[in-house]
Amino acid sequence: MMNASSLQLINKHQLVRDFSSLVDKDRRDTATMLVYVAEIDRRKLYLEHACPSMFAFCTKRFHMSEAVAARRIRAGRATCRFPCIFDMIARGELHLSGVHQLAGHLTEDNHQEVLQRAKHRSMREIEKLIAEISPKPDVPASVRALPIRRVQSTPKMLEDIPAAHPIAGQRPAIERLGVSSAPSQGSKLAAGGSKPNSRVTPLSPRRYKIQVTIGQEGRDKLSELQDLLSHQIPDGDLAAILDRALDALLVETRKKKASFTENPRSVRKRSNRKGRAIPAQIRREVFERDQGRCVFVDACGRRCLSGWQVEFHHVVPYARGGSHGADNIELRCRAHNQYEAELEYGARFMASRRN
Ligand SMILES: [Zn+2]
Repeated sequence: MMNASSLQLINKHQLVRDFSSLVDKDRRDTATMLVYVAEIDRRKLYLEHACPSMFAFCTKRFHMSEAVAARRIRAGRATCRFPCIFDMIARGELHLSGVHQLAGHLTEDNHQEVLQRAKHRSMREIEKLIAEISPKPDVPASVRALPIRRVQSTPKMLEDIPAAHPIAGQRPAIERLGVSSAPSQGSKLAAGGSKPNSRVTPLSPRRYKIQVTIGQEGRDKLSELQDLLSHQIPDGDLAAILDRALDALLVETRKKKASFTENPRSVRKRSNRKGRAIPAQIRREVFERDQGRCVFVDACGRRCLSGWQVEFHHVVPYARGGSHGADNIELRCRAHNQYEAELEYGARFMASRRN
């Protein structure tokens, strides 16, 4: 068995020679890995292994870290598009992190030149190269109002404060919300264009920090909620309000999701004959039974469990006489619903319908 102490007796030249051949092998393996990742991704083989995406396949089935999986998938797709990347990685001229960074900036026209310029470059140098080929606008100067410290006195209800009191008339929204107000344009750019600037970070077990940028309307709603809930949540605690808001939204969304309400007229019309619509009661029953998650099962009996874009799926297709009974309907994520439909109707027919 190999461990660090087993190398202690090897002379230094041999040690470096071995290291060098390990590095060479690692590079060739990395290049080969990308081709495999790209081909499995292209054939969507992850679907039949109960994964809704290549990313889930790498992280759930092969226990890669999220970062490694993302790098390999992105670099694999780039290698599929520009096959010269394979040789450059195998020869050690490009590293995986570099390809991952460059992938979104390569085009048919520029890839030869850009990849040559990225040869043997560090990450910092590659970032510079990207800034040159896809320059971003300057970050505008912005002035940020710092959050005012929350007063540590016993919380008082606004009604208790005499009208002459300095804060009674105004709404100390910034103070109570515990947020800093940033110019909206600045915060949008900081968020990286249209991508929402939000992040959930675990702090300690079962404690999470949520950072999010909201607009003026959202802030006004929060402020109004703080007022409306000021009897139950006297200190206007944002976490307590968010928790209540999430509860309310969950109840509403679960209800909607489970019994997607049809146009009442068409339901009545359809109830006379056997229609395509699944009755609301059956939807509720199925949604609850499957716990809102995809129940696609692969050959090894592993369940997908994705809760992303779940849809109702007929086990025996409706067109082949399958019923609307709960025993014939199961939840599927969109990827698996489509996969099974493609198996059923043929990929070509589905592609023509999607177009
Ligand atoms: Zn699924």
